[in-house]
Amino acid sequence: MSAPQSANDQAFARAKASIPGGVNSPVRAYGSVGGTPRFLVKALGSSVWDTEGREYVDLVASWGPAILGHAHPAVVEAVQKAAAEGLSFGASTPGETELAEIVRERVSFGDQRPIGKLRLVSTGTEATMTAIRLARGYTGRDLLVKFAGHYHGHSDSLLAEAGSGVATLALPGSAGITAETAAQTLVLPYNDLDAVRRAFDEHSERIAGVIVEAAAANMGVLAPDRGFNRALASITKQNGALLIVDEVLTGFRVGRAGWWGLEASRVVPDGAGWEPDLITFGKVIGGGMPLAALGGRAEIMDFLAPLGPVYQAGTLSGNPVAVAAGIATLRLADPAVYSRLDEVADLIARETSSALTAEGVAHTVQRAGNLFSFAFSESAPRNYDDVRSQQTWRYPAFFHAMLDAGVNLPPSVFEAWFVTAAHDDRAISRIVDALPAAARAAATA
Ligand code: PMP
Repeated sequence: MSAPQSANDQAFARAKASIPGGVNSPVRAYGSVGGTPRFLVKALGSSVWDTEGREYVDLVASWGPAILGHAHPAVVEAVQKAAAEGLSFGASTPGETELAEIVRERVSFGDQRPIGKLRLVSTGTEATMTAIRLARGYTGRDLLVKFAGHYHGHSDSLLAEAGSGVATLALPGSAGITAETAAQTLVLPYNDLDAVRRAFDEHSERIAGVIVEAAAANMGVLAPDRGFNRALASITKQNGALLIVDEVLTGFRVGRAGWWGLEASRVVPDGAGWEPDLITFGKVIGGGMPLAALGGRAEIMDFLAPLGPVYQAGTLSGNPVAVAAGIATLRLADPAVYSRLDEVADLIARETSSALTAEGVAHTVQRAGNLFSFAFSESAPRNYDDVRSQQTWRYPAFFHAMLDAGVNLPPSVFEAWFVTAAHDDRAISRIVDALPAAARAAATA
């Protein structure tokens, strides 16, 4: 007789009858780690609870937004207050301007202010999709350069050799994208400036822009080589193309002004002295509600409708409840929050690495600010090929041992681990206590 079904099993079976794969975003299906996804019913502070009432210390943080911890009381209060005044107006609100002003002010260093103007959208996918349309409309060119293993959402042009779920499922891209569209995206190896220069030598007059994750975090974490982003800025500028820096994941998470801010202020060495043409934001900017944005030089942003010829719109763009969550979150995300995030990340990364070392598991700690992940390889990867050649099979055993001990990790080796400022000593001890058995499971996998 088979084992009785748990509440999670039942929820998954029921979901699969009505929802493709039982999930509304593929990585949630546990495809690469196996087993039944946990169906969650509550998230508070550093914990999440599943439908069976089990509590897990959470290192997914809704894939990034929850820097303050889940359901921070001040954010929930702001959302409740906004909701009581109306859920959606389909008209401009003062809150949208306030959020744009906060972003313009935060994403600055000295006299560098890369966000002249900001447009609010609802998802990171919309933000990057609009940014590349804008780059094409502004330059009058058709080709786009992206890097293998970088994920920028699921719009047609950006799915070629993408990270995140596309990497997890080991897909080359997606069906349903025309050959013509695919041919307009040049996919290059990350951290390879020669490849970028060669692409421009060959297609200088045709490349509208280069899109890059500010620090790659959708093939596991993989920080750019020192000076890589600055070199991209100078190559694009020389060739009349735009540099689109995707900070959907890193923006307002790795620091007050995102990854660009860490480079501009020399927290990350050798990166200062450049500005992106366009930046995309998501996740933290909405504080857990559906909100994202693109911003950049005013003369480029003014190419958007209604001023310019590049069309973009949204029924729920700038939704007042989402904007309230974003404003409350950014107002609370002060230097103390960022130092706590760094501290928690340092601790968990160090303890995890020691546990793996103690069991003789070859690994490298991948860091970009407070984002981190582990690659099961001897030497540090620099690009997507390196990342894919690691001993990926060790992760499912590690993941499930942690889950059994009450720690919710991203269900794929190709994702970052996300900490929150609400991870307290109790949460950290639960993680640390779970590590030896998980490292043993990885060693014997
Ligand atoms: N860009 C990056 C760098 C991302 O990490 C993501 C999502 N993980 C996206 C874009 C797409 O954002 P969304 O899922 O909100 O569409």
